[in-house]
Amino acid sequence: MEFVNRFAQALPELCHQQPPTPLSDPQLVIVSEAASQELDLKPDFIHTELAEITAGQRTLSGMQPVASVYAGHQFGGYSPQLGDGRALLLGEHKTAQGAHWELQLKGSGLTPFSRQGDGKAVLRSTIREFLASEAMAALGIATTRALSLSVGTGLVQRERMENEAMLLRMAPSHIRFGHFEYLYYQQQTQPLKRLIEFCLEHYFAECLSAENPVLAMLEQVVDSTALMIAQWQAEGFCHGVMNTDNMSILGLTIDYGPFGFLDDYKPAHICNHSDYYGRYAYNQQPAVGLWNLQRLAQALSDYVPSAQSEPLWMRYQQRINQHYQQLMLDKLGLTQWHSEDEALLAGLFQLMAEQGVDYQQSLRTLAQPLDSLAEQLSPAWQPWLKQYRQRCQDNQLNDKQRCVSIKQHVPLYVLRNYLAQQAIEQAEQGDFKELHALHQVLQRPYERQADAERFAAPPPAWGKCLEISCSS
Ligand code: AMP
Ligand code: MG
Ligand code: MG
Repeated sequence: MEFVNRFAQALPELCHQQPPTPLSDPQLVIVSEAASQELDLKPDFIHTELAEITAGQRTLSGMQPVASVYAGHQFGGYSPQLGDGRALLLGEHKTAQGAHWELQLKGSGLTPFSRQGDGKAVLRSTIREFLASEAMAALGIATTRALSLSVGTGLVQRERMENEAMLLRMAPSHIRFGHFEYLYYQQQTQPLKRLIEFCLEHYFAECLSAENPVLAMLEQVVDSTALMIAQWQAEGFCHGVMNTDNMSILGLTIDYGPFGFLDDYKPAHICNHSDYYGRYAYNQQPAVGLWNLQRLAQALSDYVPSAQSEPLWMRYQQRINQHYQQLMLDKLGLTQWHSEDEALLAGLFQLMAEQGVDYQQSLRTLAQPLDSLAEQLSPAWQPWLKQYRQRCQDNQLNDKQRCVSIKQHVPLYVLRNYLAQQAIEQAEQGDFKELHALHQVLQRPYERQADAERFAAPPPAWGKCLEISCSS
């Protein structure tokens, strides 16, 4: 495999050369076959080079490990200097098909941007990121991928002592809104220009012919972010830390920390235990996405005057609504959006919230003949069901097709916190079977699989109130 580090070469001002600190006595825990196929890795590579790379023991020819500096708005306030405090960009591989994939090692030791941190990642959080990245990809949501995960024998202090681990993640680019903000607020005009040109050349080449290429690029970031967040909302995904340093210029879900998928439908659900005011609550995500895009626009304001970026904010809201409506329509097994569907959805959400029911299961329940639904649902649901039945009659799909469509759009297997927790607890005892099984099931989230009934169950009482903090 050939590597280059185009980012480090083009933007030395943002990069600090830094070799990884290896794990002690490492063990390769899991590899995502789906991710490795994107890279076209050979099986022998996986058990030789890949294991060593994922433990920080080896870099390959052409790799040039760097920690990059960025800034970001964290919980609304500007932090002028953040950066890869425990991650290293190793380099980029170009596949035979011409796709570019950057490899980034997370948990790879101290860097100049570690601040008070130790540069480490723990097994718990790397398992959560591994599972989430691959589950999101299987749901068709743009995300950084997780290629492989290793654990070491070293212990690190969090709320308790935990196992050190490393995650090898991959994405076409790991550039964040915060990279632009850093250079803008530092008034580093030439490097900012170069960062913009780098993005245009490598990721937004179709924008180069536009009258204002930077405006065209910003418009694409608006569109990809709107799509991503519409999908988060439809799948009940809560990111938890939507700071601008955790926003990808490619509209990828990035930096999985205290994320969570909804169990019971609670619109104001806060998945991050450290988010005291609910800034990043589930129902705040679309608005935060907009706010974050406006922070990016500020960093690009020398190229895109506000009169030009202004129309993008309406565009964002229209896009996110259109995507979201379509996604929810699919989940209801309906085809064409009708104006009364807004009320139909609102009624459903109100019921879900009042009845305190599981988000995914309530939707999946709809995938049965309407008569048996009517028998099964409580009296509280009957008025809504009547409305839905009426709506189904106006629809093009027959009842059988409606059920098939719902099953194709509402996942049976969701990465619920308690499922991740069970896999983590076993992994911490050195048993990775549950992790492998859960990963396997999440690859095909819509399809009922053998010996997987336990992964389709809603959480037991203990599993609903797990506290997930930022410390990872
Ligand atoms: P996050 O909230 O995970 O996006 O992290 C915010 C910032 O803290 C980033 O600059 C991270 O690199 C840094 N950071 C988080 N955890 C650690 C750690 N254990 N050691 C060093 N830096 C860290
Ligand atoms: Mg981050
Ligand atoms: Mg992080």
